[in-house]
Amino acid sequence: METTAAFAGLTCTDCGETFAAEAAPGRCPDCDGILDPDYDYDALDLTRETFSGDGDGLWRYESLLPFPESVAVTIDEGSTPLVAAPSLAEEMGVGEVYIKDEGRNPTGTFKDRGQALAVTAAALHGASDVALATAGNAGQSASAYAARAGLDSHVFVPSRASFINKAMINVHGGDMSVVEGRIDDAGAAYEDAMDEDWHSVKTFVTPYRHEGKKTMLYETVEALDWTVPDHVVYPTGGGVGLVGMHKAATELRELGLTDELPSMWAAQSEGCAPIVEAFEAGRDGHEPWEVPDTICGGIEIPDPGASPLILDALRESDGGAVATTDEEILDAAVTVAQETGVEMGVTCSAAASGAFEVADDAFGPDDTVVLLNTGAGSKDADVVRSHLMSKGI
Ligand SMILES: *Cc1c(COP(=O)(O)O)cnc(C)c1O
Ligand SMILES: [Zn+2]
Repeated sequence: METTAAFAGLTCTDCGETFAAEAAPGRCPDCDGILDPDYDYDALDLTRETFSGDGDGLWRYESLLPFPESVAVTIDEGSTPLVAAPSLAEEMGVGEVYIKDEGRNPTGTFKDRGQALAVTAAALHGASDVALATAGNAGQSASAYAARAGLDSHVFVPSRASFINKAMINVHGGDMSVVEGRIDDAGAAYEDAMDEDWHSVKTFVTPYRHEGKKTMLYETVEALDWTVPDHVVYPTGGGVGLVGMHKAATELRELGLTDELPSMWAAQSEGCAPIVEAFEAGRDGHEPWEVPDTICGGIEIPDPGASPLILDALRESDGGAVATTDEEILDAAVTVAQETGVEMGVTCSAAASGAFEVADDAFGPDDTVVLLNTGAGSKDADVVRSHLMSKGI
């Protein structure tokens, strides 16, 4: 397997055992825990000037990724803009607000960062097929990257996945199973169908999705001229991006390039908020949410297996967790579109809505707040338009 110089293999976040990348394509072979890519940070001689290489998109951080750009399955993901939102800053009573606009990725969401690495790994493992269960966006992304790599993809989506997701999985040539019910039903169908020749690119089964998503934080800090934002608010489902960004922030500190960690905030919908519940109760892990029901499909994840990692990141960074109602989240999508021009997906608007909710108590008047717009607002045009209709507009 062709890997980068500093990539040292995979460490299990549960039992601490280490593995060569070749030996562990998915979860920990010993205990089934989540595997995390490790690097020899001392061997990396990076300065703020040399931190970005000359690669394309997220591959400019190749030295801190497991695989070099020369073997990457890429559609030019990453390098998304950090858009200033002064009107939101004024409304929240903080110094600055920025929107990290991930809608500008190849398939319209930040899922592309994770799939670029996961499908690259699948190809390097010699896989012929990739498979996953997904709420929708990750499936659209996986089918695109599999097509790019010449692999077959098997995608299990719940019936309530969006039309755009389903249509584009078809268009990319994916083998799609639409499963009646919710994400857990899609997950059960995926488990039943899973073939030993299929390489999983599912959330926290492949060790590489959070690794791709960590680049969002590298880009943010670079765009802010090496100032670490005070708060990063993230619409949290499985927590892949939150765990990845927190890892990136600790790496920057370990490399001596920054001094602080941004406070990470998990924003959820009141209709499915297992992380918020666990955080507020002071627990180390979540309890599955009994009846998940939210319009925010991307974060309707009732049983997020990585909750210990998410909760660690929130506590270690002195952040928090917040849930708001679907009504407030839809209102936030409209507010952001009308005040900033940025088209925010409905799931992502949970971050905007959550930030509004905690601003008074938790954000200071000079703070810098970054909201993750994890997906393009136009993917949810019908939902936000209907919300206006419900108000007679
Ligand atoms: C998947 C998804 C999320 C949640 O991501 P996790 O990393 O699983 O928490 C948020 N927003 C959008 C648009 C998504 O597609
Ligand atoms: Zn283990």
